[in-house]
Amino acid sequence: MLRTRPPRNGPTMRHVTRRRIAVVEDEATIASSVAARLRSEGFDVEIARDGFEAIDLCRAYRPDLVVLDLMLPGVDGLEVCRRIQSDRQIPVLMLTARDSETDLEVGLGVGADDYMTKPFSPRELVARVRALLRRADRPAPADGDPIRLGTLVIDPATRIVTLEGRDVHLTATEFDLLHWLAQTPHVVYARRRLLSEVWGYRAGAGERTVDSHVRAIRRKLGRSVIRTAHGIGYALDTNCLL
Ligand code: CA
Repeated sequence: MLRTRPPRNGPTMRHVTRRRIAVVEDEATIASSVAARLRSEGFDVEIARDGFEAIDLCRAYRPDLVVLDLMLPGVDGLEVCRRIQSDRQIPVLMLTARDSETDLEVGLGVGADDYMTKPFSPRELVARVRALLRRADRPAPADGDPIRLGTLVIDPATRIVTLEGRDVHLTATEFDLLHWLAQTPHVVYARRRLLSEVWGYRAGAGERTVDSHVRAIRRKLGRSVIRTAHGIGYALDTNCLL
């Protein structure tokens, strides 16, 4: 007699399913050490060694998160990021060999959530992977009313931002950072606090990620919308919006 089984992807199976991570990296030693470390932490891992393979892998494997090297043969990391993000929202942790601002900002602009510069600590990588997954699991703050600050409107329910009546496209992380700052305008938050609130990081590393995202938001909404408190952090400034 046949027994009925719960559906494979049903809610009861969900919590026992191991989280899937795609590691996209053409340097074999880095790819295998990152994969080994993630597997030892209980993740299911698949590796892609170039951009084309990465795009195919993401379609077939449907990872919960992608660790993505920027410099790849074939399709580069930025294009891979753009393509996989066009299918669905998926957390991307970018790896980069150079600490070039331009590369980083372009990468974050196409939807990467964070980056690490090589060489990086495997322990730090695991910590960031876990934080990005926790953040992705968090329900969207749909309960909040739209925040209106002069000509800027931030709607957490639709995740739409408008400035002077026109839509401004922000990445998911840019939106979360702006929304956090906008809830208490003029209050200065330390980078470390923002990393904890917006990215869910418990350790203080990765503060430059905050700087890169602030620059990206300023490019889209104007320089003065976020004020730098030197040596401390950032605050949303409404003076330019009135
Ligand atoms: Ca590479």
